[in-house]
Amino acid sequence: MIVNTCGFIDAAVKESLEAIGEALRENGKVVVTGCLGAKQGVVAKVHPSVLAITGPQDTAGVMQAVHEHLPKPHDPYVDLVPPQGVKLTPRHYAYLKISEGCNHRCTFCIIPSMRGELVSRPLAQVMQEAENLVKAGVKELLVISQDTSAFGVDLKYRTGFWRGRPLKTRMSDLCRALGELGVWVRLHYVYPYPHVDDVIPLMAEGRILPYLDIPFQHASPRILRLMKRPASSEKVLARIGKWRELCPGITLRSTFIAGFPGETEAEFSELLAFLQEAQLDRVGCFAYSPVEGAAANALPDPVPEPVKQERRRRLMERQARISAARLRAKIGKAARVLVDQPGIGRTMGDAPEIDGVVHFKGGKPGEFADVTIERADEHDLYGRRL
Ligand code: SF4
Repeated sequence: MIVNTCGFIDAAVKESLEAIGEALRENGKVVVTGCLGAKQGVVAKVHPSVLAITGPQDTAGVMQAVHEHLPKPHDPYVDLVPPQGVKLTPRHYAYLKISEGCNHRCTFCIIPSMRGELVSRPLAQVMQEAENLVKAGVKELLVISQDTSAFGVDLKYRTGFWRGRPLKTRMSDLCRALGELGVWVRLHYVYPYPHVDDVIPLMAEGRILPYLDIPFQHASPRILRLMKRPASSEKVLARIGKWRELCPGITLRSTFIAGFPGETEAEFSELLAFLQEAQLDRVGCFAYSPVEGAAANALPDPVPEPVKQERRRRLMERQARISAARLRAKIGKAARVLVDQPGIGRTMGDAPEIDGVVHFKGGKPGEFADVTIERADEHDLYGRRL
């Protein structure tokens, strides 16, 4: 059994260690991979009987450990692996990883120390994988990384080639090319660099989905500076206004941290006021978690745990009202959905696993259906097939 782990926050470490324990009880032969494996000694201390511990991206290490304990399969089996690879998502959507690592140093985050500096995949390789997935029946590509908008920075935006034409290794060129594949293309983990504005026209033209998953983390300039994040909420609000002017149907998802060290009640109120003004469609919020190794742990005035949790709850309550009102505004309108399972689909504004769904009668997985929206609650829409 291979257990892929996450070592980011304490809750993830706990869950990963529990999963390893469960695998050991069930099967007894366990290879550990992923971020937690890179944290010296953590897995070995709790589970000394695992067969091997490898780190993130170490496919070769995992394979070596597997082959040490299992006879290597014959080539004919390997040849049966389809060109698009083996994926764990349903047939009609797939994650497309464009880079690994991150050059930022947000003080609450240890991803750069676990995953390293940004390494972008060559553009031609990404496009080849995307084409293979589409040929295999994928209808929606979810572009992921740790920092999607930094794509190509490490390669100095090197020119690559796809379908015989030159393309720069950067987010806007990648989006334009992916937009030619005739499937839904959704952008996740987009750091709010100024050049993100360049992809909004592509959304307005219908080349990629009008959906932006863009973590803002906070709105108080002082807290943002302590987080080492871009620090102007007014500029962010002005940009959001511009994006909506250019692309009125855009869905905005973001994440925030409540109870960052030193956060005062006034600064938290600034964040609530920002949310009210920004009217984001979807929001996730974490209570600050002092991840081992994060620079922010050394900051003065940590917020007591009950206060963090209470602020998180207040933020989510405020946002629930905003999200519900934004969903209610869709009642009476028609929406195209991608069907995930009979009776359940997602609009262009709903990413799988993290956003809401549309409930309606009928539909086969992987097909598109047009639905009139008749009802909405806090998360989901309910409609009738046209
Ligand atoms: S941009 Fe994201 S991955 Fe990079 S350091 Fe900040 S939070 Fe971590």
